[in-house]
Amino acid sequence: MRIDVITLFPGMFTGPLTESILQRAQDANLLEIYFHDLKEFGLGEYRQVDDRPYGGGVGMVHRVDTVVPAIEAVLEQGDAKNVHSIYLSARGDTLTQPKVESLAHDYDRLLLLCGHYEGVDQRIMEGGWIDEEISIGPYVLTGGELPAMVLIDAVSRHIPGVLGKDESSHEESYSQATDGKREYPHYTRPEEFRGLSVPNVLLSGHHAEIEKWRKNQLS
Ligand code: SAM
Repeated sequence: MRIDVITLFPGMFTGPLTESILQRAQDANLLEIYFHDLKEFGLGEYRQVDDRPYGGGVGMVHRVDTVVPAIEAVLEQGDAKNVHSIYLSARGDTLTQPKVESLAHDYDRLLLLCGHYEGVDQRIMEGGWIDEEISIGPYVLTGGELPAMVLIDAVSRHIPGVLGKDESSHEESYSQATDGKREYPHYTRPEEFRGLSVPNVLLSGHHAEIEKWRKNQLS
């Protein structure tokens, strides 16, 4: 999968996306992530990307005539088939596990637009340059970069080969395999720690009983 991120702060992504599973996925060419600095599409000597809102009020809004050329330039790169463009937005539909899975399975390429300050000019959505707005939860962050990282992490886990074993993402909280419920708890060695024991059934070796116990623990 290819993911393009349009952001004013590409440097914020170093670390979360350059360690562990996500870095390995990129090394193995299972995942390609490209960052595009919105400032490069800014206007005038100071590369201005935002302006005051019509109607008054505080804050600055990303201009449609900087964001749209940025989106168009990104779409000209690489294969533009089956691209889905998302504006990370507190006003969007909340990201859920089924949504994550459908983004991973239905598209070859995602374009993520990160806002800052008051957000972006609504005409970017009205003109069809964005397919959907996605929120990572009902709270407001300073920018779309952390939400973009959350979405990239969650989606990448569903790209075949990214996790050590494909099954690792099957029986998880909020997945189809758990009927959208939260997963059962896990235990590992030692069997006893400061008076806390592992449930006997998990030590029994009785697979049917273990399955039954795990099913009952879904919540
Ligand atoms: N004025 C906006 C509102 O009230 O909905 C908030 C703008 S917020 C300060 C700046 C940027 O952060 C937004 O353009 C969006 O990209 C991002 N953002 C903030 N909270 C978010 C959330 N919960 N989910 C996704 N993106 C979010």
